[in-house]
Order: sequence, then structure tokens, then C-alpha cells
Amino acid sequence: MLGNLGYGTRSAIKVLIKQGAVTVNGTKAKDHGMQINPSIDVVTLDGETIHYRDTVYVLLHKPAGVVSATEDNRDRTVIDLLDEDVTVMSPFPVGRLDKDTEGLLLITNDGKLSHELLSPRKHVPKTYRALVAGDVGEDDVSAFLQGVTLDDGYVTMPAQLRVLSKKAKDTAPTSAQESDAEELLAAMELVPDKAEAQVVTADGETSQEANRYSSTRSWIELQIHEGKFHQVKRMFEAVGKKVLYLRRVAMGPLRLDPSLAPGEWRELTEEELESLR
Ligand code: URA
Repeated sequence: MLGNLGYGTRSAIKVLIKQGAVTVNGTKAKDHGMQINPSIDVVTLDGETIHYRDTVYVLLHKPAGVVSATEDNRDRTVIDLLDEDVTVMSPFPVGRLDKDTEGLLLITNDGKLSHELLSPRKHVPKTYRALVAGDVGEDDVSAFLQGVTLDDGYVTMPAQLRVLSKKAKDTAPTSAQESDAEELLAAMELVPDKAEAQVVTADGETSQEANRYSSTRSWIELQIHEGKFHQVKRMFEAVGKKVLYLRRVAMGPLRLDPSLAPGEWRELTEEELESLR
């Protein structure tokens, strides 16, 4: 639709059309609701041919503290972080990251692509890095590979867990990413909650308590092939451990762009878009 020129709000486009500044195939446009075929029709604005498009694909480095929704009464949404010439195209996040999760979030108005990426039948892999309270070990690696039972009885599909590093609590971060995460944890005052620590794990042990107060923290990478609600946090809960910090670093062929700080975004490159199709 002509109203989605990507050159300002719909009402701004209406004004431009009224002023006779927009032509379609050489004829002055009269109606912002006019249907456009981007591969055939030539649209000009003030005499300049413009690259008309009706789809948008944004790679956002979601920061903690914003919700993966298009609207919310209380919190800022991921859409609030974008510019108006993108939001005018009514984009929405492809799936959800929790409010406190950071990392790669694709935002688009392409319903078909979104549906394909989220389809439970497609098993699109998602890779996360997390800081976990406790000593993540080989037992956890094999448990995740076999599938763990979540709190609602669901048994997860095989997932690949890698331990990246382990460190004593309160030791200095060893990378910029770790340092960002540690800063965030401090800001969130993530202090273990005694009441929660009493929770008995699914297999009847109180290892959760031991792990929560353990002096070790583990940086891990986990690849999952499905997207249950709070899946990564619940998988670690199933093995008696708590995720302190979570960041998504990949979804299908898309990687989190290291040049994007939390809160920053850019449109997908042609190559990235091709890789999704
Ligand atoms: N798993 C979680 O627990 N949270 C997220 O935000 C994403 C995956």
C-alpha cells in the first residue's frame, strides 16, 4: 500500500499525496490506500524515484528491561526502540525474549517468514549464552542431550550444551561480554533469594539451594531446537541450577551483530535475508 512508503507516518504520506508530490508510473497519486506492486510500479517522491518496499526486517540487540511485544501498558516495547519510518510498517517481533533477556531479536512485518521461523515443525535452532549459578558439568551436558523434564512434565528435545568457562563468584570478568553481563547483574541486584532457594527440584533433591549459593558460576552456550516458554531457564531449573543472565546469540542462520550494543538495531543485509529464505 502506498501509505507504507517508509518515508514517514501514514498521515505525512497523505499530506505529500495531497500536495501532488507522489507519482505512481508517471501519474500523480491520489489515494494513500492505493495498492502497489513493488517489482513493477515506479514510485517517485518530489521527482525522485524511491525504492518502494512493503516489508521490513530488523535485527535488534534487545536490551534487558523492554518487552517483546508491539504494545504494552506498563513497559517499553522493542518496537519503541525503532525509528518511525520502520514502525510505520507495523513490524512485530518474531517470537519472544523475556524482559530480562538480551540479544538477537528479529523484527519484521513479514508474517510468512515469521511463521516459518517459529513453526514447531521446522526446529529452527536458537543459540543462547548464559551465566548460570553453580557448576555446570558433564552430567548436565548429557541430560540436555537426552532431554530434561520441565516443571509441566514436557520432555525437551535434544539440546547441545557447552561449558565455555567457570569462575569463582566475584572474580573479574574475562571478556567485554562478561563484563557487560556482570554490570547488568549488579544493576539488577541479583542476589539469591532465600525463599526460592528452598525449592525442591523435580527429582526431589535440594541441589538448587547448593548451586545457588555455590561459589562457582558457569558461562555456557546452549543450542535448542524448539521454543517453549522460558525454555532455557526452565531447562536449568530442571537440573537444579539458576540462570542469572541470558543472551540469545543466534537464530537459524542469523547471528547477533557484535557491533550492535544492547538497544541498537539495523536492517538485515540482502545476504542475511537470503539466508532466511
Ligand atoms: N529461554 C528463556 O528462558 N528465556 C528467553 O528469553 C529465551 C529462552
